[in-house]
Amino acid sequence: RAKADGGAAVRLFEPAMLERVRARQSLKVDLAGALEHGEFALAYQPILDLASGRACAAEALLRWNHPVRGSVSPADFVPLAEETGSIVAIGEWVLKEACREALEWPPHTSVAVNVSPVQFRSGTLPLAVAAILVRSGLDPRRLELEITESVLLRDSEANLKVLHALKEIGVRIALDDFGTGFSSLSYLRSFPFDKLKLDRSFVSEIGCSPQSEAIVRAAGEMGRAMSMTTTAEGVETSEQLRWLLAHGWSQAQGYFIGRPSPAFEVRSHLRRPAQRPILQRAG
Ligand code: C2E
Ligand code: MG
Ligand code: MG
Ligand code: MG
Repeated sequence: RAKADGGAAVRLFEPAMLERVRARQSLKVDLAGALEHGEFALAYQPILDLASGRACAAEALLRWNHPVRGSVSPADFVPLAEETGSIVAIGEWVLKEACREALEWPPHTSVAVNVSPVQFRSGTLPLAVAAILVRSGLDPRRLELEITESVLLRDSEANLKVLHALKEIGVRIALDDFGTGFSSLSYLRSFPFDKLKLDRSFVSEIGCSPQSEAIVRAAGEMGRAMSMTTTAEGVETSEQLRWLLAHGWSQAQGYFIGRPSPAFEVRSHLRRPAQRPILQRAG
């Protein structure tokens, strides 16, 4: 039908496309007031230290409670906030909120915060991080910034400067979603990351894809050889956790360990003495 009558096909698809563009546009408009209206919240997902069996950190994950649409995923609104530049102010709010929350946690724990490439290129990130840490009183070593490979693709000189300035402040830097970017691996020579977070697309295939298992094994070995903490994302089963333990991974994060949850739940999770049971369940 589309071949016989292209015009009709266009007319059929046009309203749907228009609707998508309109929805995106209205989301963008709403986003402009979201910070001011207090519509953002943070969920926290615990991260398990495999050597001790204790929760050692939690990752702050941004949530937008839209007054009409309900909870909007960061995958849907972070790109919009990056386009308008509002991610810089939103990101600072996230940092403030996460640092304040981490003060309620035991001193051996840290908080991980995702940083957008746009925040990175804004030129204000190191100063903002330093100011927020001073004002909150949080030990810089308890803050971990997660960046993705895409940060290192453009303006690598300028970005390296930012990374070094952040390291100087004393925060730790994690390479997030490792393995999903257009990585040449060469950037791993130019900057000493503290942590490598392997993307969950590989972790999810442990036990069913020898290719993925080979990648997980190699990534773990490389991370260890470069003195990085190795964290596996998206651990959903006891089999995956057991495999990661056996292959020397340092940390695990995922639904099997804990879902992203409101602050009060993660607080009590982090205060629990040890997670032996979860390792026993796995082992
Ligand atoms: P990410 O940093 O890689 O965060 C992990 C994502 O995987 C989270 O999705 C988390 O809910 C999800 N996840 C964790 N464990 C599992 C699991 O076992 N199975 C499955 N299927 N998923 C799991 P979420 O919260 O939707 O966040 C998506 C992405 O949005 C994040 O990916 C991060 O890149 C970005 N993001 C989140 N918060 C912020 C923020 O404050 N600032 C910026 N710039 N980006 C953020
Ligand atoms: Mg992350
Ligand atoms: Mg990730
Ligand atoms: Mg991800």
